[in-house]
Amino acid sequence: MLVHKKTLLCKTRNLPYSIIDATACPTTCVSFGVLELTSLRLPAIWLGKLSLIALRLAGRGATSFPGKIALKVYPQLLARLGQRLERCVVVTGTNGKTTTSSLLAGILGTDEPMIHNREGANLPQGLTTALLQHTSWFGRLRRQTALFEIDEATLPLVTARLPVKVLVVTNVFRDQLDRYGELDTTVSKLLEGITQTEAVIVVNGDDPLARHVGLHSGRRVSYYGLSPRHATMGHHNQMRDGAFCLECGQELTYDAFFYGQLGVYRCENCGFERTEPDFEGAWHGNALVVKEGRLPSVEYRLPTRGLYNIYNTLAAISAARISGIDASGIARGLATYEAPLGRMQGFATNPPATLNLIKNPTGCDTVVQAILSEPGRKVVCLAINDLAADGKDVSWLWDADFERLAASPDVLACVTTGLRAEDMALRMKYAGYKTPQIVMSPELSNGLELAFEKAGELGEDVNLYVLSTYTALYDTANWLEKKVTAGAKTPTYRTSVS
Ligand SMILES: [Zn+2]
Repeated sequence: MLVHKKTLLCKTRNLPYSIIDATACPTTCVSFGVLELTSLRLPAIWLGKLSLIALRLAGRGATSFPGKIALKVYPQLLARLGQRLERCVVVTGTNGKTTTSSLLAGILGTDEPMIHNREGANLPQGLTTALLQHTSWFGRLRRQTALFEIDEATLPLVTARLPVKVLVVTNVFRDQLDRYGELDTTVSKLLEGITQTEAVIVVNGDDPLARHVGLHSGRRVSYYGLSPRHATMGHHNQMRDGAFCLECGQELTYDAFFYGQLGVYRCENCGFERTEPDFEGAWHGNALVVKEGRLPSVEYRLPTRGLYNIYNTLAAISAARISGIDASGIARGLATYEAPLGRMQGFATNPPATLNLIKNPTGCDTVVQAILSEPGRKVVCLAINDLAADGKDVSWLWDADFERLAASPDVLACVTTGLRAEDMALRMKYAGYKTPQIVMSPELSNGLELAFEKAGELGEDVNLYVLSTYTALYDTANWLEKKVTAGAKTPTYRTSVS
């Protein structure tokens, strides 16, 4: 019954549909038999757009649903709409995707409106929804530029269908194990996704794992990295998953580190090593100086704080340069940046609260580092869920460096909440907190209320820092928003860490 799928060729790419659409649903082929699939393109768009309107009338934002229903009717829709994009940029990697793509959105969107999948919707359904929002009833895509943030694991599903021109790999760290498996799987997903495109790859060359991806991509690669003068051999208790050479398995030798496994590395066994970056960043104070080959260095104002954000900004600038944007366009774009949800997002509550997303050990360590670098006494609240989107395996909490919180005289107490509040409380006990310093309440709003009470008890100058996994993030942000003191203005500019 499905024989025609093997022979039916996509008209634009001359490849079988079964290759172009990795998830091309057999049910569509079964239900529509040998129907010429292109005739269903407009009905699919109409269905998608009608469900977008219905969701809007129901007061709900765009979800993946309109894209899902449209793809059911016409599985090639994402590829067909995507073909019309002149500039399609993808940002992938373990940490820093959201901040990097927000920064890049500001830059690419300065001169012309563009399509951008904000957080969450990075499967084909979500991307199709994003495109449908900018498609006319006659099927015409109204935008020429799109920027998509894509998880490493879903990259191959997406790149086969979109004409990606520039693809950024921010870094490769260990993420939720049950979602992505081990690092090798992540690296092979990235390579699989990249080899399906003709894109220029923009890679963090300070990360040996990302460098390995660049080396084996078979595509034109531009590396970005920091000036070695910012690397140190100082205190390092952070994760270094990638500290082994992926080429030969030998442990890498480091001259110095930036953070995690990022540094100036080489393999004594096979000669694999960090390369001179095409875009080299150095900073002083609030300025990031970017050196691009033999061109004169350009100084940009950093829109965020923290070392990981210097990387994110450098990634965005490199991708923008590869996309043909000049320095003044980049500077204008960076000035429009606002921190996305849960990235050192401040709330004018009493006491003031700061919300951060945590999802893996390295990201969590950078959040801890950012919290410790802020002045004043603190209470930390950890909201930990283990639903599918968080990763069901919470053992990574044991790899994150919570000991640094416990060792700081400024972090006075911690409150744990969410579905895994008990595991988190146990983790904090092992990190070094005494039992009276740990408060636990699995129910989220109660846990947050207790965190405010605890901070209030400890003194007027105590600030609250909330660390939350993905599925608790939106509820926590809403709860904090309601708690904002009447008339107070929530700061929109804060450090961003992911
Ligand atoms: Zn090696």
